[in-house]
Amino acid sequence: METKILDGKIVAQKIKDELKVKTHQLKEAKGIIPGLALLLVGNNPASMVYVNGKAKACEEIGFNSIMKEMPESVTEQEVLDIIEKWNNDDSINGILVQLPLPKHISENKVLLSIKPSKDVDGFHPENVGRLVAGLPGFVSCTPAGIIEIMKHYDINPSGKNVVVIGRSNIVGKPMLNLLYQKREFSNATVTICHTGTKNLHYYTQNADIVIAAMGFPQFLKAEHLKEGAIVIDVGINRIEDSTKKSGYRLVGDVDYQGVFQKCSAITPVPGGVGPLTIAMLMSNTYLSANGDIY
Ligand code: NAD
Repeated sequence: METKILDGKIVAQKIKDELKVKTHQLKEAKGIIPGLALLLVGNNPASMVYVNGKAKACEEIGFNSIMKEMPESVTEQEVLDIIEKWNNDDSINGILVQLPLPKHISENKVLLSIKPSKDVDGFHPENVGRLVAGLPGFVSCTPAGIIEIMKHYDINPSGKNVVVIGRSNIVGKPMLNLLYQKREFSNATVTICHTGTKNLHYYTQNADIVIAAMGFPQFLKAEHLKEGAIVIDVGINRIEDSTKKSGYRLVGDVDYQGVFQKCSAITPVPGGVGPLTIAMLMSNTYLSANGDIY
């Protein structure tokens, strides 16, 4: 059996190409250009890369974007003030606060201050609640992107046993909440595993699909899987590699080489789930501008 590599770059590009066409049509028909506001606090190198990637994607698709950079020393109130300004600006359809924020600023308070109708990251409890209730809302971009990969490769989770490893608000929980819904490309029996799970093997060895999102490099091994399982690797971890100019390389939460022969399909790192996160952020911003959700 040949293992299929699930290429996220292809799926993300397809989504962005479609958005480009729809954005042009939106401008022609209604005179609306989707606008995304990006807030970057401090100078975390990874955050800078992510925010710049998001701004570049806006440009590629034809959105307007504004980026506000604030120093590490900024007060919580100054952050809340800029969000309030964007909440009331009709040219802005989406607000993104790049996480993590410095320790003296409450992430919860900041995320709660974003108007749910502009919460294109899908982190506001209103959007989380809508997801759980099966109502239209903004869905966290990485799990939404995983569903798009599944659709593209015709991997239908309906009726399958799916194990999600990780219970973060950004990946694990929304992934769980998407997968059990009674709708197309969901309808799965989902188990969520985490640091409190005893005997992880018991769950993963019975899974048709394993989604690894625990932030632990190359954790998931062949012995965790049943023959022919489908593996979605969400992890992005830097590990030292003296053969690289940068001194490091990126690996997922899955031991890619070790599991490759045993699984029927797998997302690589990089180039698997990662590219979908930005594509889905763009998709949510378009939906906001077009008034599709609120
Ligand atoms: P997190 O640290 O917030 O959560 C990790 C979760 O994994 C926790 O809920 C914890 O209970 C669980 N966990 C940790 N070790 C475990 C173990 N040994 N066994 C079982 N469960 C365990 O992380 P996150 O924000 O959800 O991110 C997870 C990974 O995905 C990270 O590597 C992150 O960089 C990556 N990520 C990638 C994208 C993307 O665009 N591809 C987006 C977000 C996060």
